[in-house]
Amino acid sequence: MSPRKRKPLRACKRCHFLTTEERCPRCGGETTDSWEGYVAILKVEQSDVAKALGIEEEGEYALQIL
Ligand SMILES: [Zn+2]
Repeated sequence: MSPRKRKPLRACKRCHFLTTEERCPRCGGETTDSWEGYVAILKVEQSDVAKALGIEEEGEYALQIL
């Protein structure tokens, strides 16, 4: 067990992008630590998940903001 605390991942309320920042580096939206479902979008144009979430760029996202 490591005594070092890892920064929790936060999700952007607007675009669902995952980050450790208080503000989304992508869209500047507010982030929250209440989210569920991790998804990595690799090929935006081939991803139904990306389409459903309105994601236009590759990256790591939260499926749902709680
Ligand atoms: Zn965002």
